[in-house]
Amino acid sequence: MFNPQRPIRILVIGGGPGGQAAATTAARFGADVILVEDQIVGGAAHLWDCIPSKAMVSSSMRMRAIRNAEELGISDPGPVAVDMSLLSARASRIADTLAASMTDMLDSQGVEIVRGRARFTSTTSVAVNTNGGEVEIQFDRAVIATGSRPRVPDWAPIDGERVITTREAYHLPELPERLIIIGSGVTGVEMVHIFSSLGSNVTLLVSRHHVLPHRDPEVAMVLEEDFLKRGVGLLKGSRATNIERDGDIVKVSTEDGRKVEGSHVLLAVGSLPNSENLGLDQIGVDVDHGFIQVDEYQRTSVPHIYGAGDVTGQMLLSSVATAQGTKIARHILGHDVTPIDYRKVSQGIFTEPEIASVGLEEVDAAAEGRKVRITKVPLGPNARALIQGDTGGFVKLVSDPATRVVLGGTVVGHHASELIGSIAVATNARLSVDVLVETLMVHPSLTESIAEAAE
Ligand SMILES: Cc1cc2nc3c(=O)[nH]c(=O)nc-3n(C[C@H](O)[C@H](O)[C@H](O)COP(=O)(O)OP(=O)(O)OC[C@H]3O[C@@H](n4cnc5c(N)ncnc54)[C@H](O)[C@@H]3O)c2cc1C
Repeated sequence: MFNPQRPIRILVIGGGPGGQAAATTAARFGADVILVEDQIVGGAAHLWDCIPSKAMVSSSMRMRAIRNAEELGISDPGPVAVDMSLLSARASRIADTLAASMTDMLDSQGVEIVRGRARFTSTTSVAVNTNGGEVEIQFDRAVIATGSRPRVPDWAPIDGERVITTREAYHLPELPERLIIIGSGVTGVEMVHIFSSLGSNVTLLVSRHHVLPHRDPEVAMVLEEDFLKRGVGLLKGSRATNIERDGDIVKVSTEDGRKVEGSHVLLAVGSLPNSENLGLDQIGVDVDHGFIQVDEYQRTSVPHIYGAGDVTGQMLLSSVATAQGTKIARHILGHDVTPIDYRKVSQGIFTEPEIASVGLEEVDAAAEGRKVRITKVPLGPNARALIQGDTGGFVKLVSDPATRVVLGGTVVGHHASELIGSIAVATNARLSVDVLVETLMVHPSLTESIAEAAE
């Protein structure tokens, strides 16, 4: 199929983190790479997900800091107001800046970018619908990195104005006055943080007993306490079943018979893979509930076609998509590849306090009946936390009682997504807790609590 006299041609569908990593890595190693993208280089990650959500998080943190400035001896910071159009323009500007620099980087590496929508016509060709008509592209290897989109249940009449998903949340003309958020996973709680900090009156519908149902309950407890302090309404055990809009009012009905009224409702109830209309059934690529099935090297059931990122449903994170894309390129080009150990992926939740974890969590160890040593230090007495006025949260370390090797950890606190780095390195390198104890950290710093937790 592939002629050794010319560089191998790799076709990448989707320019999000997964596709982009596959394209740049393969081009760097000399492959002939074509990237097909139908929206923006950077993908959903830059247009709707990671980047705009974190831009909103930054604005909301600034807002909260101004509101709480008096605690730090700054009186009367003056009137503060949110301008949604400025927030929205800033998020778009960041996405455009990143897209431009990525496009330049792809160009400089010789990646050909084709704007349009790709569909397989055989196991070695795709048809791309472009502005100028349909073009056919042949390939030796292909990477499907088409991402995912918000799941919308059939009872949710998304109108983009008052009944919205995260995709519309950044571009509302005004701050919602009374916002109902459905879904208390990572995206749901981040949206609660953003909008309640900016000044919306927020009600969160939690279908289970606590927020972040798959995570450490102690983490959920800290977050719930913070939400309650801000005046967020937490309706637990409330599974939404219907949404009605009546002019400027939205009404959400729940399985337990409640009717919740607000000005807007935002759905954050998971993601669906973008795998339809790719012609996968015709070429024999297996999917399960739409998610492309891959082996540990990201090969699909058609082994010269690979899958990367959200569309494979392995762990819906930008960092994971990037790692998968890079590994695919290396695998195609015959380099040594170690499959990803999903247990060792660092994960962050951008609330206030932030939450970050890596490796084995206490809940996983308990579920597996595994004997572990758990050490936990609250951040309250940490000098830096007191100075900053952010004393909520803790550091929890999980280690092996026999070997003292660090197996994982959780940080809940200011900048937890940065602090988790040292625990991630220790987990990945299988370091002993003693290495953390013996490492002299900056004083005063939150990192000191990591060393303390290791003792
Ligand atoms: C609100 C929100 C916040 C998030 N925040 C974070 C975060 O802080 N950190 C983190 O690690 N992860 C975060 N994520 C997850 C992260 O955004 C995804 O894991 C990441 O975008 C997946 O990258 P991807 O390469 O799979 O595809 P995507 O980024 O989804 O990009 C896929 C691209 O493929 C294009 N495409 C689809 N079909 C075709 C076709 N047929 N032809 C051509 N092009 C096509 C799409 O238009 C899109 O541009 C967040 C998700 C959400 C919803």
